Amino acid sequence: MTLALSRRSFLQQASATALSLGGGVLPAAAQRPITQVFYDSATLRHEPSGDHPESPTRLDAAMEGVRTLERQGRLTVAKPRPATEGEIVRVHTPEYVKLVRSEIEAGRRTLSTGDTEISPGSLGAALAAAGAVVSAVDAVVSGRARNAFCAVRPPGHHASQARGMGFCVFNNIAIGARHAARAHGVERILIADWDVHHGNGTQDVFWSDGSVLFFDTHQHPWYPGTGNADETGEGNGRGRIVNQPFPAGAGRDEILGAFRTRLVPAAERFKPELVMISAGFDSRAGDPLGKFTLTDADFAELTAVVVEIARQHARGRVVSVLEGGYSRDGLARAVAAHVERLSA
Ligand SMILES: [Zn+2]
Repeated sequence: MTLALSRRSFLQQASATALSLGGGVLPAAAQRPITQVFYDSATLRHEPSGDHPESPTRLDAAMEGVRTLERQGRLTVAKPRPATEGEIVRVHTPEYVKLVRSEIEAGRRTLSTGDTEISPGSLGAALAAAGAVVSAVDAVVSGRARNAFCAVRPPGHHASQARGMGFCVFNNIAIGARHAARAHGVERILIADWDVHHGNGTQDVFWSDGSVLFFDTHQHPWYPGTGNADETGEGNGRGRIVNQPFPAGAGRDEILGAFRTRLVPAAERFKPELVMISAGFDSRAGDPLGKFTLTDADFAELTAVVVEIARQHARGRVVSVLEGGYSRDGLARAVAAHVERLSA
């Protein structure tokens, strides 16, 4: 329903543009599917204490650039539906989901499985965050959207099947990938993770899976300690986990270089049908939780590399999911650069 509303507002906007250009007909470009951003204010009700870096204000920052592009008619913002418990347990154990629910309902302030603070609104927020990725997958795989960005929190890539940690409750991107496979029959999915921290949860979920190629650049040694280059998957997943650890101080040369020289050929062999991004912007220069030096222009170029992979192999289908990013201004600018490139 919300999707219908936002499509209507897009059409109104497109009509207004056409009228302002002096024509009564929609411009051809406006009739093609465009970038869609998924955002649900329920994700603001996850409220870690005090001056915790993973605060609701992060999403205000992330949405600044998005709203500007929306006003320019370059994307639409849609409200997703929350994920169902059935969608969550495609990734997480029923016992873990039960534990999350009971600990939030009991008023605990930290998940017993790890360093993730919780509040009374955290379950609704976590279901909304995972649901945004599910909704984005539906929109992109069905062709309603050209590509999508999910402005979500809590982040997800540290959450494994039975353990939330690192500010994460549910693994949003993994839930979206499983949804693409189960609901749409997508057989090969690339997940590229440029957050400064290793996506240990995503790696765990797809360790022996084989349907997902997981490519991760991250600072090492750094939280959470995993992500050595020799962690490459097992069984069906052998060779499908690609870790590129870099020391503090690494930036454009290392990370963009890894995307160009390792990810591009790996994607050429894997031929993904859907491309997903764990878009963490704590790898940006000046982030308080990382020591990488990427700039906003670098994020635009990383986006371009991934968009080109998707164009070559996956009919352009990209679903990008916000992970970290803890400098308010830095997050606003980096997301703007990323989403602008997605919508270009
Ligand atoms: Zn991070």
